Amino acid sequence: MKRLSILIVILLIGLSVFAQQYATDSIKALRLYKGSETYDVKIFPHKFKTDIPKNIILMIGDGMGVTHVYAGMTANRGHLFIENFKSVGFAKTNSASNYITDSAASGTALASGKKTYNGAIGVDTNRQIVKNIIEDAIENDIATGLVSTSAITHATPASFISHQASRNYYEAIAADFLKTDIDVFIGGGYNNFTKRKDGRNLVEELEEKGYKVLQDINKIKKIKKGKLAGLAAPDHMPRAHERGDMLPVATKTAINILDKDDDGFFLMVEGSQIDWAAHDNNTEYVVSEVLDFDRTIGEVLKFASKDGETLVIVTADHETGGFSIIGGNMNTGVVAGEFGTLGHTSVMVPVFAYGPGAEKFTGIIDNTDIHKKIKELLIEN
Ligand code: MG
Ligand code: ZN
Repeated sequence: MKRLSILIVILLIGLSVFAQQYATDSIKALRLYKGSETYDVKIFPHKFKTDIPKNIILMIGDGMGVTHVYAGMTANRGHLFIENFKSVGFAKTNSASNYITDSAASGTALASGKKTYNGAIGVDTNRQIVKNIIEDAIENDIATGLVSTSAITHATPASFISHQASRNYYEAIAADFLKTDIDVFIGGGYNNFTKRKDGRNLVEELEEKGYKVLQDINKIKKIKKGKLAGLAAPDHMPRAHERGDMLPVATKTAINILDKDDDGFFLMVEGSQIDWAAHDNNTEYVVSEVLDFDRTIGEVLKFASKDGETLVIVTADHETGGFSIIGGNMNTGVVAGEFGTLGHTSVMVPVFAYGPGAEKFTGIIDNTDIHKKIKELLIEN
């Protein structure tokens, strides 16, 4: 009997050691990117037609710190489209309520130039509406658009269109789209427009307002003019390897439509899932999302370099994961990531700018300054 219990104890210890080792191995596997296919990076000319941009494209890599960029750079064997940017700076991201911001407060700072509390969508610390750059643009007959790989009602895009006390009011945020004259929006979030507690069918309401509402990216990408609501997933878009080239294609589609406006345009493009990948402490997911975002930057630069009147700004709303790289190889694309947290961090995020006015986005600035400079160049010039 005694011998049997000893045997059982030994077996249990063995099993738990095995289980621990298995868990450690799978965590290690999540943190290692083994290197995969790469793409060619082009260098674009820096010759612009004006000093003041006619169009501004703001690209937000949610949670994208310097390390996330460098992980992508390593994975793509040393180069990214992001290297086209010669005006580089850093932005502070703290919110009015917290040392470490969330995407709602930082989205609101970028969209409206006001620091607010974490969770706030387009309202200040007194829950009063703050005007966003899309509303300013619409008032000035400038065309506007939003593209995202999350639901279009999620915090980052929501901050550019909606005014709600909480980022969680997805249905109210969806309804706020109807209060504006935004020209194009493409992302996920179809269910927030149709499966609603108030019984409204916002897809029908959008159609009555003149929008083409489409769910299939292959149909969305064929639209060349007019108002477009692309709701390509019931909730969020799937991960990069599943959604394919949705982000570059949606971005190209939006630019093509918006560029028909002679008064210029403002477009916000978000690589939403860099943040979620870093929350997961998953290096492969981070890398695939950064590479997808960078390929989208490539499409944007292709347009901007030809256009000569478009300013492109790439930044982040905050850093996620306390991400670091403890090993890697530029020849194989291997990235050994390590993470300090499952949440966001307080560190400054990079700011990259290309085009007329780009030099204004250098140095160490606040996230609210990005809005101020965009507004100066696009509205107040
Ligand atoms: Mg986001
Ligand atoms: Zn996050």
